[in-house]
Formats: sequence, C-alpha cells, structure tokens
Amino acid sequence: MSTPIKVAVFSTKPYDKHYLQAACPPESNIQLTFHPVPLTPETASLVTKASADAVCVFVNDHLPSPVLSHLASSGVRAILLRCAGSNNVDLPAAQALGLSVANVPAYSPEAVAEFAVALLQTLNRQTHRAHARVREGNFSLDGLMGRTLRGKTVGLIGTGRIGVAFARIMSAGFGCRVLAHDPFRNPAFEPYGSYVDDLAALLPQCDVLSLHCPLTESTKHVINADTLALLPDRAILVNTSRGGLVDTKALIHALKARKLAGVALDVYEGEGSLFYDDHSGEIIQDDVLMRLLTFPNVIVCGHQAFFAEEALREIADCTVRNLQDIMARRPCENALVSPDSSQGGEENRRSEVK
Ligand code: NAD
Repeated sequence: MSTPIKVAVFSTKPYDKHYLQAACPPESNIQLTFHPVPLTPETASLVTKASADAVCVFVNDHLPSPVLSHLASSGVRAILLRCAGSNNVDLPAAQALGLSVANVPAYSPEAVAEFAVALLQTLNRQTHRAHARVREGNFSLDGLMGRTLRGKTVGLIGTGRIGVAFARIMSAGFGCRVLAHDPFRNPAFEPYGSYVDDLAALLPQCDVLSLHCPLTESTKHVINADTLALLPDRAILVNTSRGGLVDTKALIHALKARKLAGVALDVYEGEGSLFYDDHSGEIIQDDVLMRLLTFPNVIVCGHQAFFAEEALREIADCTVRNLQDIMARRPCENALVSPDSSQGGEENRRSEVK
C-alpha cells in the first residue's frame, strides 16, 4: 500500500467528522486526525514535524503568516478550506512559503440563499415571535404585522453563486424587483434583475438589502453609518455573507434610531470567539453582540446558512478531491494558491481581506 496521506482537521464538529470520513473510503489511503479546537497561533503546535501533509480548516480558523510558516516547516503542503471564503488565510504568505491553498468555492449555493430567504421572512412576518407567544398561550397578533414581498425592491451586494440563487427565488418566487451592485457582472444574474453600478444609487431603492459579496479590503464595513443612512426608512437588512461587511456599532445606532424595520444576521464581525460553540452557561463579554440581541427586530444565527446535508456532502467531497489533486501534483481547479504558479486561482481569489 502507498504512503498514507495525513490530514489534520481543525475546528472539527461531529458532522464534519461524519461527512469527511464518508468522503474518505479506506482505499483512498487518507488518514484523518480530528482536532476540535480551531487552528490559531496558539494551537498550531498540534501539527508536529511530519504529522500532517495537509491541514483542513473552516471559517474561524486563523492562519496568519506565523501559523503558515510553522505548518510549512512541519512538512504540511496543503491548506484545505472547507468553505468558500479565504479571508482567514494570509494567501500571499502561503504563496511565498510554497504552500497550496484550495477552497470549496461552490457548495449548494441554494443552502445559503434559501436560509437568507428564511431569515428574511421570519423577520418580516415575525414568525419567531409568534412561535414564542403561542407556546405561552398568547394568541394576540398585536405587534406581529408584516408586509408582503410581491412588488418590493430587493437589493443585492454581490451576484455570484449565492446572490444569483437568492435573486432567482426573490424574483421568480416572490415577484420582487431585484437590483444589484457588483463590480464583476455575472450573466447568470441578468434573467432575475438589473445592475446598478453606483451603490449609493442602489441603496435608496431597497426595501430589502441582502449581502452576498466576499469580505475584501473594499467591502469591509460596506454597511456603515453613511450607507445605512442611504437606505429607505423601514428597510430590512440581511447578511448571510461575512460579519465584517457590517459596521455593527453603526448598525446598532441605526436600530436605536428606528431607521430599519429589521436586521437578520447569520454572521457577525466578532463571531470568531463565540460561534460554533455552546456558551450558554457563560457570561458573554461581547457587549456589542449582546446589545444587538436585545432588539425585537433583530435575528442573529450562528453562521449556519451553509448547514444543510447537501452542502456538507459537497464540502467533504470537494475537500477530498482538492487534497488528492494537490498531493498527486495535478492541477487543482479550486487552488487559490499553488506553489507552481503565481497565478493560481486568481479567478477564484478576488483578494479577500486578512
Ligand atoms: P461568489 O464568489 O460566487 O460571488 C461573490 C460575488 O461578490 C462575485 O460576483 C463578486 O464579483 C462580488 N463582489 C466582489 N467584490 C464586490 C464588491 N466590492 N461589491 C459587490 N460585489 C462584489 O461567492 P458566493 O458563493 O456567492 O458566496 C458569497 C459569500 O457568501 C462568500 O464570500 C462567503 O463570504 C459567504 N458565505 C456564507 C455562508 C454562510 O454559511 N453564511 C456560506 C457560504 C458562503
């Protein structure tokens, strides 16, 4: 039998283990070591000399240059992202160290788009509050008034795979008018809506604004005091993309000023130290998040939009394909960085923020 391929998997949850093991049958000769902790400068020492050919990480693992240097000097050749976003990996440093980095650019965009719709309609029709009331024997409708979506204008920032899936549902399903801002036009979006080149011209038209762009230098805090002020009063904001797109303090200010009808967040800029773990018995120290949770018109979920069976299966299968391509020194279609080419994955990469 050939030498096994050793993979250290970080931020492992039971579902990661289940789907990754299913994607690695015995004949694949892949040895998975599961670490429940995230990969950070503090935990990188779990990867010892020759213990892993690859590390497999998720959205809140943190791979700055010193972590990558440690991995490279321990014999790691590949960083396998079980997600699309790569804002948590210093890609230029990985390139300089001769590492390969590959992501899973497309895994059931519908999983995220459908979740964004679920958040939007929960908030709009207040089913979360109705459910809590009815369980207490309170059948009053006071305060639960919603609005229909038909004919309303939905604005998107980002029209990639998820943005297009969301646009299709909102346009074909709900009969909304869909407008979008994206510096890279996507022909797949065009059946469902129109582009507005100037974000400042898009925002005043949005009854609903949904974020579907990556976190980059140019998109960090794209929703801030100035852009929030451009939204019409009573707009709904949905963010299933990355927390750093929204300046949370400015958002709280806008909520206190009753500017917005509601906000649905699946992601939060300070999520790294909280999300994916149970902190229910602790005193949470993040006052910004805790203030956000006090608003009756805010829903926060713990970065779960991707969390559907189809998506987890695709993530695991694609991660294993990326690993096998890199280890066999075959071209890897999802390479963000490849040691053989400074151009690796340029199309896929779009310089996400550190
Ligand atoms: P994608 O790469 O297919 O599309 C991203 C789109 O954003 C592209 O069309 C790109 O041109 C556009 N864009 C880039 N810079 C922009 C800017 N400055 N303004 C407007 N648009 C800009 O990615 P995707 O698969 O559609 O995913 C979108 C984002 O969703 C990811 O970057 C990731 O952060 C997030 N995501 C979240 C979850 C979750 O569970 N909540 C799951 C998957 C992805």
